[in-house]
Amino acid sequence: VAAFGTPTRSVATTCAYCGVGCTFKAELSGDTLVRMVPDRNGKANRGHSCVKGRFAYGYAHHGDRILDPMIRESVDEPWRVVSWDEAIAFAADRMRGIQARYGQKSIGVITSSRCTNEETFLVQKLTRAVFGNNNTDTCARVCHSPTGYGLGQTFGTSAGTQDFDSVEHADVVVVIGANPTDGHPVFGSRLKKRLRAGAKLIVIDPRRIDLVRSAHVEAAHHLALRPGTNVAVVTAMAHVIVTEGLYDEAFIRERCDWDEFLHYAEFVSEPRHSPEANALLTGVPAEALRAAARLYATGGNGAIYYGLGVTEHSQGSTTVMGIANLAMLTGNIGRTGVGVNPLRGQNNVQGSCDMGSFPHELPGYRHVKNADVREIFEKAWGVTLDPEPGLRIPNMLDAAVHGTFKGLYCQGEDILQSDPDTRHVAAGLAAMECVIVHDLFLNETANYAHVFLPGSTFLEKDGTFTNAERRINRVREVMKPRAGYADWEVTQLLANAMGAGWDYAHPSEIMAEIAATTPSFAGVTYDLLDEKGSVQWPCNDAAPEGTPLMHVDSFVRGRGRFIVTEYVATDERTGPRFPLLLTTGRILSQYNVGAQTRRTANVVWHDEDRLEIHPHDAEVRGLKDGDWVKLASRAGETTLRARITDRVSPGVVYTTFHHPNTQANVITTDYSDWATNCPEYKVTAVQVGLSNGP
Ligand code: SF4
Repeated sequence: VAAFGTPTRSVATTCAYCGVGCTFKAELSGDTLVRMVPDRNGKANRGHSCVKGRFAYGYAHHGDRILDPMIRESVDEPWRVVSWDEAIAFAADRMRGIQARYGQKSIGVITSSRCTNEETFLVQKLTRAVFGNNNTDTCARVCHSPTGYGLGQTFGTSAGTQDFDSVEHADVVVVIGANPTDGHPVFGSRLKKRLRAGAKLIVIDPRRIDLVRSAHVEAAHHLALRPGTNVAVVTAMAHVIVTEGLYDEAFIRERCDWDEFLHYAEFVSEPRHSPEANALLTGVPAEALRAAARLYATGGNGAIYYGLGVTEHSQGSTTVMGIANLAMLTGNIGRTGVGVNPLRGQNNVQGSCDMGSFPHELPGYRHVKNADVREIFEKAWGVTLDPEPGLRIPNMLDAAVHGTFKGLYCQGEDILQSDPDTRHVAAGLAAMECVIVHDLFLNETANYAHVFLPGSTFLEKDGTFTNAERRINRVREVMKPRAGYADWEVTQLLANAMGAGWDYAHPSEIMAEIAATTPSFAGVTYDLLDEKGSVQWPCNDAAPEGTPLMHVDSFVRGRGRFIVTEYVATDERTGPRFPLLLTTGRILSQYNVGAQTRRTANVVWHDEDRLEIHPHDAEVRGLKDGDWVKLASRAGETTLRARITDRVSPGVVYTTFHHPNTQANVITTDYSDWATNCPEYKVTAVQVGLSNGP
């Protein structure tokens, strides 16, 4: 503070990193941001924060920021700095020309779960009302799309059931495929506090995450499953609960479809689903699995928290439905201290999904085929909407390779680094005639772009984010957009250049349109958010102050639905050439591919991605700690240093993906979730060998 001056004013806003959604006071001296102070009034964080939210905002002023629009005729040419008017006109002309030559469905958009609700709402409106198709997708495709499908099918809506406060009343906490102390640190601290107070913990994860054993915390059970066998583990837990008569019959009779329960119970009771029958497959000792299932079913309030270790699999949606089955079986839904809670990776994954960023859903998770829903938006927007679902991200890239998809507006997402099978992404981008990158930095995707539109950071705009507990938090402008426009304004410029007549003067007007068209947001206004600090959707006449707990008296879909969860092995198999299974995760101080955290001056970030390998697997390969190793899969190879540790089991290796030189997605396959196409990032067969370095 001494170096920058004493703060003279503060602006309340929301962290733009993870789905916890911590509230901060951005303290300024004049127009200079001096520091970020966690806000005691923040309902998600109550005055706490992690290192990212507190210190990793310097990227807003990093020299790599591109502050002028740029265009080029072809990607072989150098960029040409132009005015906003020229860049927008160039982009609009190209997109219109592509549609004239190749048809209305030859262009589309990808938006980011780091953008505000208002921005993602406008982007899907641009696609539907201006482009005239449903080719809109979001980076949630590659993280929590199975949550949308799985919870929608079982409970009737795609959202976590609880508020974060609820964990303080849990007696048994099950953490599946998530690492809250690194990925969702403020929630992780609250969870640890509850565990120190006596709640029991079950961790289901291939790796011994910190929660398994750390200061004053020790998991009752750590089921170190073989990557890719989540469904078998969850179904085996259900087998124990059903065959040992531990299910809550009264709850199931009152709240769920009884016939579907009977069918499901018959399925899970088959001997082939017992822990003993699956011990070899899953790598989990049968007794440990039985004990974990009994504890969850009989230990009092049981709460499940899960992350990308559940969703980023070829059976991601199946596992989500299996988790929902467990909660319904045991009556652990609809009251404080229980529930099913996806821990959202990015700050606004929940919101971007809520806002209709998927090619089959309008805002509020309503299918585009539903004529009544389309009519609401057709009246509001004065257009006729396409009733056919559009293309998902992988389908856009496939169509580009096949010559039928030619133009992409990519907002806040570096798909070349973030999406699986890098070579396929590059081929798709290279085949397009207009790629518009709207971002803070010249990212890897921009190598294939014809238009670069400078983006704005969360400090430079007004709007809202929705966190993992459905809490709608205000984002407030701390500084003027450095490139002249906030992201929602850029989308409006492009829409108007393509013939729309939008005249939003402030994001509050966009929120008013969201509220008017989306029942779960009907009561949300900026005035209400200013008054309450935040609200959790649904917020409407039935719940004017929001909804901390969902499915209290009945499920959103009416009766809860048990769905049979048959385990199907991934097509990604180990073999003599690729005998190890690679899985991935994050560290506390870095964020995804590091575009922001690596551009913030702080020695904390000066780390590197390492490959964790078990001592036995290292020994047979002659590896020492710190050696450079080549990590190779059927898709590609990369080089990084080894960390020898028994955090991973024999046969399993693990790395993070925060540094571009690691190029973890050169390794990953193009297998994906059967229902949503969410990539199978968490299971890749690999070989590891000594290397001389990069
Ligand atoms: Fe930001 Fe998440 Fe850390 Fe909170 S826990 S400060 S939202 S990164």
